Amino acid sequence: MSITLTIDGQKVTVEEGTTLLNAAAEVGVSIPTICYHPSLTPPAVCRLCSVEVEGRRNLQPACVVPAAEGLVVHTNSDRVRTARRVILELLASTVDLHEAPEIQAMLETYQCNPARFSGGAVRRFEVLVDNPFYVRDYSQCVMCWRCIQVCADDVQYTYALTWGGRGFHSRVATYFEEDMPDTTCVFCGNCVGVCPTGALKGLVEWKEEHEQY
Ligand code: SF4
Repeated sequence: MSITLTIDGQKVTVEEGTTLLNAAAEVGVSIPTICYHPSLTPPAVCRLCSVEVEGRRNLQPACVVPAAEGLVVHTNSDRVRTARRVILELLASTVDLHEAPEIQAMLETYQCNPARFSGGAVRRFEVLVDNPFYVRDYSQCVMCWRCIQVCADDVQYTYALTWGGRGFHSRVATYFEEDMPDTTCVFCGNCVGVCPTGALKGLVEWKEEHEQY
């Protein structure tokens, strides 16, 4: 069944079940994302893709909310831009983003000022070099969930990764905090491939950057 809605003033007709994110793409409207990856189940955790839908009180995560007949969607309103700016500023004030050029570009786009949150705690974790293939630096992790999903039902069915810690100290972990060689990891590299930051990196590349290692 086809559905017609309006996105940023443009009428678009899509198949039932199409997300607002994909419907917007149909008419050339690009909505920013971090946790979304086209090959993975959207976890809707970063909320950067939130859009305004007339008649709905809360901003809606476009990566998971389906199009509906007659919806009027605003992807770049003042309210949407403010929400994105705050999300990005909070990320930039707590996470090391120096190897996340796409997120840095978004900081520019939304005229972010992470200094507004300076003085807060920064997430810092020991770099984990526990296997011959890749390095995990969770100080650069934006908690997008992609690596956990690609390791699980979305692609690899290996289930080497999960969440560890609580609240501010939560991070991607292995079960029972095992070193990676003691987990079910088969070192396929899919997690490194989908990571949007420098949190996961091949060991050879990492060593070249850290010659003293
Ligand atoms: S390690 Fe990378 S892919 Fe995994 S949650 Fe963190 S940023 Fe996302």
